Amino acid sequence: MILHIPHSSRSIPAALRGQFLLDDKALEEERTRVTDAFTDELFVHPDARRVIFGVSRLVVDVERFSRDRDEPMSGAGQGMIYTRTCLGEPLRRALSEEERRFLKSEYYVRHHELLRRAVLDELLARGKALIVDCHSYPSRPLPCDVIRDENRPDFCIGTDAFHTPPALLQAVVSIVRGSGYSVGIDSPYPGTLVPSAYYRKNPDVRSVMIEVNRSLYMDEETGTKSSGFESVKDRIQAFLKELAAFGAA
Ligand SMILES: [Zn+2]
Repeated sequence: MILHIPHSSRSIPAALRGQFLLDDKALEEERTRVTDAFTDELFVHPDARRVIFGVSRLVVDVERFSRDRDEPMSGAGQGMIYTRTCLGEPLRRALSEEERRFLKSEYYVRHHELLRRAVLDELLARGKALIVDCHSYPSRPLPCDVIRDENRPDFCIGTDAFHTPPALLQAVVSIVRGSGYSVGIDSPYPGTLVPSAYYRKNPDVRSVMIEVNRSLYMDEETGTKSSGFESVKDRIQAFLKELAAFGAA
């Protein structure tokens, strides 16, 4: 099993800070809105390979398609390289072609290569791979969100028609519901990540997204852990244990 954790980091390298138009306070607030805080602590399994993106999604978002024409969120200024905040305000100054190339090769391509290697290693070792795409989301919709229903479930399970077999989806949903949580399927956020080398080509590469509602484990205003953190962490680790057993079967 591979745990892909793309949005846990708040880090913006000092050399890139000048690209952002926000003052320090506004940048902090934007980071708190877009970071899937603590997902690197919540999604842990002793035998899983973990692929964690080490910088903020405000630098580049590895979960997006690299070409704007393939990426629906690029219309809102949130393709691979964000130009707008999730409130719709200008985020970044205009970048040169060289700056864009640097961001793509240094961060996006390098990360996807790590993920592709992890999948290849699993395929070589087991003949199949299971990617769990690990995220969290705000309890209230953001202005940039496509699905704006105020009633957000405890967990969202994201799927891909080709890479998420029905039995895998059923297993994840019943594991999470079995703990008493409400579950949305592809809502409020659809999809799950598969490296482009395997995307819609190799059905032995299976993938499912698990997203947890941030209100279960953190104070969304301050960005700090809440009293629910430890119990949610225990539950998620129990889910991953069951899922690893399913993936190995
Ligand atoms: Zn995320």
